[in-house]
Amino acid sequence: MYSYQEMVSMLNSGGYRLTGQRLLILETLQSFHGSFSALELEKKVMKKDQSVGRATLFRALDLFLEKGILEKIHRESGDDVYIVGSSGHHHHLICRVCGLIRDIEACPFGEDLRAIVQQEGFSDTLHRVEIEGVCRACQKKQKGRIA
Ligand SMILES: [Zn+2]
Ligand SMILES: [Zn+2]
Repeated sequence: MYSYQEMVSMLNSGGYRLTGQRLLILETLQSFHGSFSALELEKKVMKKDQSVGRATLFRALDLFLEKGILEKIHRESGDDVYIVGSSGHHHHLICRVCGLIRDIEACPFGEDLRAIVQQEGFSDTLHRVEIEGVCRACQKKQKGRIA
């Protein structure tokens, strides 16, 4: 996951104005250890600075998503969550019980798919694969409850 410094330089290199409020939001992102919802982020940001409006927050979220600083993850439950991004092509493993998210470097799409995409004449393609399941720690807890 990107560090605070990496996030700042990603924004700087894009020529974006780093207002105090944006920096505060970036800083707040670091306090999450996994995924978080927009509401959770809003609560934490408001605690630090009540003058940050909802519109400012959502504009910042959009910008961070666009820059890859944040990644949005679709949950089967219907509530999308955010996670601090990381570099390189990767996919996510998500625990549906505790919300833990792990990056996986492996990509299920190889040459076959690339060839098909090329045949179809598409460029600048992207794809998302998210695997949802139950993490090891949550499996242990579940077993403990049954026993
Ligand atoms: Zn879990
Ligand atoms: Zn992939």
